[in-house]
Order: sequence, then C-alpha cells, then structure tokens
Amino acid sequence: MSAVSLHARPSDSFAAKLAHTTAMLSAAAAEHGSRIVQATSLGAEDMVITDLIARWHLAVAIGTLDTGMLHAETLAMIERIQTHYGLHVEVMQPRGETVVHFVARHGERAMYESIELRKACCAIRKLEPLGRLLEGKTAWVTGLRRDQSDNRAAVPFSEHEANGRLKLNPLADWTWGDVWHYIAINDVPYNPLHDQFYPSIGCAPCTRAISLGEDFRAGRWWWEDEAAKECGLHVKPSAEGVAA
Ligand code: SF4
Repeated sequence: MSAVSLHARPSDSFAAKLAHTTAMLSAAAAEHGSRIVQATSLGAEDMVITDLIARWHLAVAIGTLDTGMLHAETLAMIERIQTHYGLHVEVMQPRGETVVHFVARHGERAMYESIELRKACCAIRKLEPLGRLLEGKTAWVTGLRRDQSDNRAAVPFSEHEANGRLKLNPLADWTWGDVWHYIAINDVPYNPLHDQFYPSIGCAPCTRAISLGEDFRAGRWWWEDEAAKECGLHVKPSAEGVAA
C-alpha cells in the first residue's frame, strides 16, 4: 500500500491552511530576497514546500545536508528535485577531516554507544554544515509540524532565533493527512522509503521503519528516550539535545 493511499486524508481546514502557507512563503520570499533558504530534509513535508516554491516561482533557495549516512533513496531525491522542477539544490556536506577523525576515534557505530556520542555525530554531520548553509541568510524555511512529536507540539509559524535570523515553519498546523493529500493532488515526487513505512527519514543508521500504530518519530533514534530525540537542528540554544 502506498503512503498516498494510506495517509492522504485532508483535514476540514486544508484549503485555509494551504492558503496561509502559500501566503507566508510568498511574503517571506518578497521580504528576504536572495537571503532565504529552504533547508530540506528531502522528506514528505519538505517536498510540499519545495513544490510550492516551484509552483509559485518563489525566490527561495533550496539546500540540503548530505551527512554521508543517507539512504540511496534519499540522496536520489536531490536529482529528482533538480530534474522535476528545474531547481538547483545546494548540497552541504560535513568536513571530511572532522568525520575521519571522529570515526577513527569512536568507530562507525558511535551513535549507539551514548547520547553524547550520537549528538556529537549530529553536530559534525548536520549542525556544522547547516551553519554553512545558513551563512549570510536572514531567513530559513523548515517542514516542522506540531503533530510530529510531543517535542514539536508548540512549533510556531515563525520565530526569530537568538542570532536574529527568522525561522519559518509554514506547515506548523498541517496534519500528516494534509501533507499526503497535497502530494496526491499535485503529483509531488517523494522518497519511496515513505511507501515502506518510514514516515520520518534521517540517516540510515538512525532510522528504521515503524509498525502501524507506532508514533510518527518512533523510527528515529529508537534506542533513546523520547525526550532526547532531537538532533539539534531545531533545538533552541538553551535546550539540551541536538533533529531532522
Ligand atoms: S542522525 Fe545518526 S548518523 Fe546522522 S548525524 Fe545524527 S547520529 Fe550521525
């Protein structure tokens, strides 16, 4: 059964949410010009945002993080976006020397050893490259939604980070059903892992398929407590933890 047939169930307010999301993206693109970027995880939510950017010809750059640990299906989405939409995707990678040093010291399976080592790996492979992707940008766009997890239940539509940069979460109030309804009616390309019960897709060693009835993010860092499950991409500086 495909993810579309399994999940595409729009909420009653889908049309209003879509109008709000589109207006938010348009206004942000107009305000920030060349200094706004979508940081895409290449997952379903981010494909909705990329589709809107392309559909409305919005001046929002698109960038992603190739951690060196992604599934082949996820990496293939970069080429699919470029081919399908004719949009360039800027790919940021971790610094090779830092990765080599970390792996030599802690091994390939360090993320399973402790939360500290898992967060250190995320810091090297995600946070540092994200910092470079956002350099010189005054705004960035994410696919965060409130019902992805308890940790994200209060995600605002927009917020200023401590450094003054604006973070936009235009799908904050979308349900999983809304996301898949949009993908279905607009024939949006998506990661085939979603058809294999991977709702939330990150690095291969840290992502597994889930069973029906499990929480949305149960397949991410499944060996850790729920409270620890963020990788730092979306954690405020005052909070502990480092998530995609
Ligand atoms: S998600 Fe896993 S493999 Fe990817 S950067 Fe974090 S710890 Fe490393």
